[in-house]
Amino acid sequence: MFCNQCGQPVASADKFCSGCGASVAAADDRQNVLQAISTALSPYPQLTLTWGQKADLEISNELANADLAAGKKKVEYSARLLADQGTRTIIFWEIIKEKSQGIGAFFSFKTETYRTDGKVRSGTVNETGYGLGGKVIDYNWDYAQTRQVIEGAARYQGWQFKTVLMKEKASY
Ligand SMILES: [Zn+2]
Repeated sequence: MFCNQCGQPVASADKFCSGCGASVAAADDRQNVLQAISTALSPYPQLTLTWGQKADLEISNELANADLAAGKKKVEYSARLLADQGTRTIIFWEIIKEKSQGIGAFFSFKTETYRTDGKVRSGTVNETGYGLGGKVIDYNWDYAQTRQVIEGAARYQGWQFKTVLMKEKASY
């Protein structure tokens, strides 16, 4: 565990950081909410979690990756979050990225049902794609699921939850 203010290692038995005097309880609180989010996400092994690099947590999930001689298509979900101790708020950003090239030979059926309520998107995307050799894309994504799991874990720890549109706001 590390001090929120100066980054020096602290023990949870300490009351104050020996480096800068900041309260260790605050570092504990932040650690607890991140731990709760980690536990809440553990039943979803399809999510790739990266802790403490570009944000407190980065999430990615490759929904489709079809690579045929005729063309390519990749669909990926990404999210980032920061645990802001000052306001005790989880700042959350998410997006679905789609890259395709030369997909003329794909027959793809996509149904996207979502609504955007302020900065929050809810709904599902279903896509099935067929190349010349058969089914190459088949995924079903629920926009709300990952976000709701994280929001639920944060609120249970007494933290607020806020979605942002700019990736930078949820990054270090
Ligand atoms: Zn400190």
